[in-house]
Amino acid sequence: MKVLKFGGTSVGSPENMRMVMKIITDGEQKLVVLSAMSGTTNSLVEISKHLYNKDAQAARSVIKALRDKYDKVVDELYSADHYKQKGAAVIAEVFGLLEGLTSKEFNEWDEKVALAQGELISTRLFTLLMEENGHRTELLPALDFMRVDEERAADMEAIETLLSEIMAGTPKVKYYITQGFICRDAEGRIDNLERGGSDYTASLVGAALDADEIQIWTDIDGFHNNDPRFVANTRKIDQLSFNEAAELAYFGAKILHPQTISPARVKNIPVRLKNTMNPGDGGTLITTVSDGTGIKAVAAKDGITAIKIRSGRMFMAYGFLKRVFEVFETFKTPIDMITTSEVAVSLTIDNTKYLKEIGSQLLQFGEVEIDQDMSIICIVGDIIREETGFASRVFNALDGIPIRMISYGGSRYNISVLVPTSHKQTTLQTLSDKLLNE
Ligand code: ADP
Ligand code: ASP
Ligand code: MG
Repeated sequence: MKVLKFGGTSVGSPENMRMVMKIITDGEQKLVVLSAMSGTTNSLVEISKHLYNKDAQAARSVIKALRDKYDKVVDELYSADHYKQKGAAVIAEVFGLLEGLTSKEFNEWDEKVALAQGELISTRLFTLLMEENGHRTELLPALDFMRVDEERAADMEAIETLLSEIMAGTPKVKYYITQGFICRDAEGRIDNLERGGSDYTASLVGAALDADEIQIWTDIDGFHNNDPRFVANTRKIDQLSFNEAAELAYFGAKILHPQTISPARVKNIPVRLKNTMNPGDGGTLITTVSDGTGIKAVAAKDGITAIKIRSGRMFMAYGFLKRVFEVFETFKTPIDMITTSEVAVSLTIDNTKYLKEIGSQLLQFGEVEIDQDMSIICIVGDIIREETGFASRVFNALDGIPIRMISYGGSRYNISVLVPTSHKQTTLQTLSDKLLNE
């Protein structure tokens, strides 16, 4: 069985939903993971912000605008009045729930319930569309099998067990539908896999089912060698290895949620990226195989904070780095990049929730310098096979860019540099011009 995930734009209008229906109804059994219609999760985030600020009126006006949009969707999506009524009932139920949230003390669990509504609506409306068009379809509620543990990490064992139980008890049909992004936490409360998480759902479900292939259908024809939102003349890559794709996704390539590759890589399941608007294109295939050598692609991750700890007495003392790392462990804050010199260590984080606490604890080791608004630029390829000259080509290309940190040698697949976010676009464009498109 294949697992196919369709993103926000792919289900973003009645016309696009019909396109998705056409793509999936080829007679082969499959499980289809759907995102919320584009813009919906952003609106739900906005509603939640207003409710945290106790501005119920502002929340209600965003709810009203969103509801108007869905009323139109329902009207255009179905032909028969009977289905229009069923669709309208879904909308009435979901918007009744959202309205209800505006007249109570709003907390983080309510926010997660609100954020889950986008995927809950899109999958119910899409299932009705399939039924109206005579395709036997089963909606498998993601909240019944998608689980995260106490650390909010995917609970693969629970997902595997629950999903196989549910599949066994569900009528055998060609087309199964489920929600991306949403899950339950270790205590059974509604939670999510973070923004963009539907890709990760597809990969977790694909791994749980030992799928033949995981397909991520989106609004672009595959993985490009640079970020098309910031750089002109990007090019699609036909084939990437799991390792290359994982580095690019982790370091900011928005086309894939950062953790998407990991479950697929463990089970060695091919991941294919495809364009819903151009289904005939082969897209990008991600497997153990990397084709070609040298520099393949670059990606950028924003919102990075660099922390430098300078200490007179550090490197004489083994155990120093351990004590530094323990501070980050205490505050459950992962480190992305690290570099050292005789007197200082620099590292980066992207989760700044405990920045103040981390900063003050690090003061015990010496001077602490913090730079915010930085971006990691990650340059990926099969670097070892490129033999000599890789680093010099990268640094020649980056001539004139203020680099704050460099990380090279951590893996054979990437070299990362840290630059101020204000220089991100120039850095990406320069790398395309001088390295990728020579
Ligand atoms: P979906 O809603 O289908 O999940 P996303 O917006 O999350 O779609 O991801 C697709 C978008 O990712 C593309 O439209 C493109 O703008 C952006 N993107 C960023 N980096 C890349 C890249 N290297 N290759 C392709 N697309 C990228
Ligand atoms: N709807 C969620 C989001 O917008 C998840 C996803 O689209 O992947 O972040
Ligand atoms: Mg996405």
